[in-house]
Amino acid sequence: MSLAIYKKKRSFNKTPEPSGEKNKAGSALHFVVQKHDASQLHYDFRLEMNGVLKSWAIPKGPSLNPDIKRLAIMVEDHPFDYRNFEGIIPEGNYGAGVVMIWDEGVYRSADINSGDIKLQEKNILQQLHNGKLNFILEGSKLKGEFVLVKSHGLGENDWLFMKVKDRFASSEDITKKDKSVKSKKTLEQIATTSKNFHKSNRIAGKTKNKKSTAKQKQEK
Ligand code: MN
Repeated sequence: MSLAIYKKKRSFNKTPEPSGEKNKAGSALHFVVQKHDASQLHYDFRLEMNGVLKSWAIPKGPSLNPDIKRLAIMVEDHPFDYRNFEGIIPEGNYGAGVVMIWDEGVYRSADINSGDIKLQEKNILQQLHNGKLNFILEGSKLKGEFVLVKSHGLGENDWLFMKVKDRFASSEDITKKDKSVKSKKTLEQIATTSKNFHKSNRIAGKTKNKKSTAKQKQEK
């Protein structure tokens, strides 16, 4: 696993996203789900493994209904620090738009009943290799067992994300819960109040706002 593609796609003198390095294993494996209002709204689902965040973009977001399969497109590995990123990726940068920490927590393999982090990680990496991941999430919004399975009928990077039947399965639309677990803000609130944008973009952002206000006035 490598962060080379992640780094290649981004200019760290223009975006506030972390340029971070690999992480050393801690006492638990982490996950994060970031709601990302880019050219198309999607949810980035990220699982810590081997010191990076293995990442999938889920256009429709996660579902708690075991009958619903959601397309999850595998994207480039992200640095471990990315799990703390909430803010604004400026216009002109890769993935430009607002990022919210929609859910976060720890996870473990559903295949082995061991608290040993090394065994857990070894099992998860084997599952990844096999193209099918069974895991248990302990988040604020997402709880219980889920599966990510590589779909051979679809594109090369296409996987399916779904809930496994357990006591956390539900017909509730979990994406209706639309606030950050970190700041308690909606995407709109992050867009207007976040201080986490790159300083090189601050003036450009103000200019852009003035322009759009002027345009709105013209249109009226
Ligand atoms: Mn994204």
